[in-house]
Amino acid sequence: MLIKVNGLIIHEIAQKENDKFITILTAEYGKMSVYCRGVRKIKSQFMSLIELFSYNEFELYEKNGHFWLDDCYRINDFYKLRDTIEGFSLASYILDVLSDISLEGEKCEDVLRLGLNTLYAICEKIKPLWQIKAAFEFKAMCLSGYLPELDGCRRCGKKLDKYTFDVLSGCLVCDKCKGIAVSDYVDFDHFDFKAPFFEMNNTLVDILRFVQGAALNRFLLFDIPNEPEQKAFSRFCELYLLSHLERGFQTLSFYNSL
Ligand SMILES: [Zn+2]
Repeated sequence: MLIKVNGLIIHEIAQKENDKFITILTAEYGKMSVYCRGVRKIKSQFMSLIELFSYNEFELYEKNGHFWLDDCYRINDFYKLRDTIEGFSLASYILDVLSDISLEGEKCEDVLRLGLNTLYAICEKIKPLWQIKAAFEFKAMCLSGYLPELDGCRRCGKKLDKYTFDVLSGCLVCDKCKGIAVSDYVDFDHFDFKAPFFEMNNTLVDILRFVQGAALNRFLLFDIPNEPEQKAFSRFCELYLLSHLERGFQTLSFYNSL
């Protein structure tokens, strides 16, 4: 059976005899593993197409329970990701997160669209990298079912100028209710990010509300002029993602080391 599908290459492993084993992210089938014969040969017509970050139209056939590459056409190679080491390493982290939050055989149109729009934003330098990274992290968690409640203190309902964000429960609490929330916590010693609570003001809450509700072609269209709030937004979004995915990423450590 031959199938046609558009997919973003999110992982690749070189195999013997110039072959490659790749993972593509597709809207219809989620993650798919595809075996590509001879694509590492210099003379192969697919050599430049079967690379990380390439978004292609694939023609695949299924044999012995695996998908094999039959033909391939480029849609976008996101080549400008390679302009800077910072942009490239952020893009590598984006691919790792996309892989982590998608499954084989499960539709993931929004996650793919988020990934493509984020890579495009890095290429075209639509916003500073810290902002692209943070908004991606938060939006990725919203799409993965970790939708926070951002409408006042969850326990008493009060609307205030500043709150504490209860990271694991995904909600805001006021100072009075924070003491009650603490007792709900499990032991966090096995994570290296011991911050299940995050102090934030209303400006930050408003930005999170915007990113949460924005369409996937608009989620980066905001500005944070104030530097302490830029830093708080960056720290919060990374913490929110790591706390919910319960893992770290080598690509993130590398990006943060630059
Ligand atoms: Zn309260």
